[in-house]
Amino acid sequence: MFAAGGGAILQRMQRMDRRDALKVLFAAGCAGPLAAACRVREERDDMHAKSETQAAMPAIFLAHGSPMLLDDAKWVAELSGWARALPRPKAILVLSAHWEARPATVGATRTVPLVYDFYNFPARYYEVKYPAPGAPELAARVKALLGAKQPVAEDAARGLDHGAYVPLVAMYPQADVPVLQLSLPTLEPAALFELGRALAPLRREGVLIMGSGFLTHNLRRMEFRPDAPPPAWASEFDAWSADVLARRDVDALLDYRNRAPGVQIALPTHEHFVPVVATLGAGADDGSPVRFPITGFTYGSATKRSVQVG
Ligand code: ZN
Repeated sequence: MFAAGGGAILQRMQRMDRRDALKVLFAAGCAGPLAAACRVREERDDMHAKSETQAAMPAIFLAHGSPMLLDDAKWVAELSGWARALPRPKAILVLSAHWEARPATVGATRTVPLVYDFYNFPARYYEVKYPAPGAPELAARVKALLGAKQPVAEDAARGLDHGAYVPLVAMYPQADVPVLQLSLPTLEPAALFELGRALAPLRREGVLIMGSGFLTHNLRRMEFRPDAPPPAWASEFDAWSADVLARRDVDALLDYRNRAPGVQIALPTHEHFVPVVATLGAGADDGSPVRFPITGFTYGSATKRSVQVG
């Protein structure tokens, strides 16, 4: 169609500035003398489509350990290997068990201090530094994504707690990826699943959404030896969680307080479990398999099972 009238259109284009000329060129269709230009546009569109599909970061949940995790060479190697296998994030958004604040609150975005939120540990655990850059643009995106449905507050003095920075020291030891912490505004599973869903677009912007907690968390039922075998209730709870997550059984996950075996012993409180619900919400529209890059137990009953969606 265009090939026949190509000469006339090229004459018109000579009188236009470059942007208008390109509009005419692309509007005219792809044939005849313009085929080469069209191929350039198709390649560009193709690259754009690929970057959109390839840029989606996985959403993860990890068991964060105590500050002593960093003395556990095997666990550090597991976290570090996991980070190397992930696409490099542009920024990291952490939802840790150790920050509950309503409404949802973003933490410090300039210099990001650490919160040594543990007691009676040897002095060296209070000397760990993690000078990650702040992520003010990510904070603005979080506000934009959540703000339509819920207010989002800001606590400029709130740094990274040990649920956030301990695994980050192992995973990104250079502290060169901007990090933002977002509070858990509730422990209610359905609301956290929706929170994760609302944050999901960040994955296509190169943001690693990181839930941080423990699938089992009963400090009174932990053993003194890191290599103590897990009790049956912990193994059963861990296996149930793995099955539900792998099958993406959202109904069962949201009802874990009634359905999971041993839940009363595994979770005297719930803040360590529920970040995984937000992670699964962030991956709800992603059809890829749910994987467990780290498994096993530490100090008897604490499962290290960590989750990757996408
Ligand atoms: Zn913890």
